[in-house]
Amino acid sequence: MTGPGPLLVGTAGKPVELTVSPSGGGDPRHAVVVPVDDEEPLRYHAWVADRRAYVHERSGGRLGYLHVPDMQAPGWAQIHRDLRVEVAREGLVVDVRENRGGHTSQLVVEKLARRVVGWDLPRGSRPFSYPQDAPRGPVVAVANEFSGSDGDIVNAAIRALGIGPVVGTRTWGGVIGIDSRYHLVDGTLVTQPKYAFWTEGEEWGVENHGVDPDVEVVMTPDDYAAGRDPQLDEAVRIALAALAENPAKSAPPLPWAAVRPGIPPRRATRRDSIPCVPITAPEEAGPMAGEARSDCLFCKIVAGEVPATVVRETETTLAFRDINPQAPTHVLIIPKVHHPDAASLAAAEPQIAADVLREAQEVATEEKAESYRIVFNTGAGAGQTVFHAHAHVLGGRGLQWPPG
Ligand code: AMP
Ligand code: ZN
Repeated sequence: MTGPGPLLVGTAGKPVELTVSPSGGGDPRHAVVVPVDDEEPLRYHAWVADRRAYVHERSGGRLGYLHVPDMQAPGWAQIHRDLRVEVAREGLVVDVRENRGGHTSQLVVEKLARRVVGWDLPRGSRPFSYPQDAPRGPVVAVANEFSGSDGDIVNAAIRALGIGPVVGTRTWGGVIGIDSRYHLVDGTLVTQPKYAFWTEGEEWGVENHGVDPDVEVVMTPDDYAAGRDPQLDEAVRIALAALAENPAKSAPPLPWAAVRPGIPPRRATRRDSIPCVPITAPEEAGPMAGEARSDCLFCKIVAGEVPATVVRETETTLAFRDINPQAPTHVLIIPKVHHPDAASLAAAEPQIAADVLREAQEVATEEKAESYRIVFNTGAGAGQTVFHAHAHVLGGRGLQWPPG
C-alpha cells in the first residue's frame, strides 16, 4: 500500500483533479486540489494548535500557550500570531522546545519581562493592559535538548531576569557564534567560532553544556508514542500553583460610582416593581408597564438596547457574561425589574430575589465551577457601580478570602 503519494509526484503548486470514491459505495466525487511540496509547516501548525488546546484544556482556559520555533523572522512572526490572545489569559506557558536559534531572543524576553503597571479601559470593549501584550501572571518556560544556540540563551535569560522557571531537559549547549564573513575563492563559505557568550548565573557554562532546567522532566520514547506531554503537564501545574498564591492582574472597576453616587434607593412602591420592559404584550400590559429606566444600563440590556452575552433567561431574571470578567466564569444575574440594589430588591420582591439566587446556582452548575462565589456588591463603598440589583457568579479560579 503506497497511498496516493506516487501519483502526486511532481504536482506541487499545480491544480490536480482527484477522483474520490465514497467508502460506503456510490458515485465517485471529483475535487481539485493544489498539493504542497512540503508538509512540515502543516504538521508544525497542527502540533502548535494541539499543544495550545491541551494547555487550555488542562488549565480550564486560564493559561495561554506560545511556541517559539526559532529566534529569527519566522519565530518572531509565529509568536505574534497568538500573542495578544494568549497573554490576555491569567498565566502563560512559553514553549521553546526545538527552538533552532538565531538572534531575536532579546526581543522575546523583552515581551515576556513586561510588567503590567496600568490599564486602558475603552468604552464598550475589553480593557487593555499597559504596556500591552504583557503577561498578567506567571510565566513558565518549557525547553528540551533541541533548544539550541539563541534557543539556549533564551532560557538562560528567562532565569537570569527572574521571568519564571524553566521546565524540561538540559538544552543543546552551543552558544559560541559564527558569522558568514569569509568565502573561499570557489565560493565555499567557511566559518570560525567567533562570538563567545556569558550570562549572569550561567557565566561561560552554557557552551558544551546547555542550560539546566529548574524542574527536570524527561520525555521518554514511551511518552511520545502514547501522546503524553509530561513537560507541559508540569509547566501547567507550576503555573496554576503560582496563580493560587498570586492571582493574575486584572483591570480595576471604573471609579465613577465613588465620585458620583447612584440614585438613592427609593421607598419600595409598586412603581419600583414595574418591569423595565413589558413582560406581557403591550396591548395586555397595564398602564404603567413599559417604563424602562432610561438611565439604567441593565434596564437597557433587559430591553435589548445594549447587547450582552446572555447565558440564561427566566420570566423574572436575565443572566449574561460580565464585560470585564474577573475570573474565567463571571456571569451577572439581574432581575428584569428595576431595583437599585439587592437590599431593595429583597425588601420589595423577595420571590424575585430568590429567583436571582436560584439562577446564580444554576449558572455555577452549568459553568461546571467546582467552587465559586456569589457576590452582591451593595453601595458604592462596596464597589457597586451599576445601580440595578445584580448577583456576580465568579468561578474557575482560586478565590482569596477575605475579598478586597
Ligand atoms: P458592580 O461593580 O457590582 O456594580 O458590577 C457591575 C458589573 O457590571 C461590573 O463587573 C461590570 O464589569 C459589569 N458591566 C458593566 N457594563 C456591562 C455590560 N455592558 N455588559 C456586561 N457587564 C457589564
Ligand atoms: Zn434598571
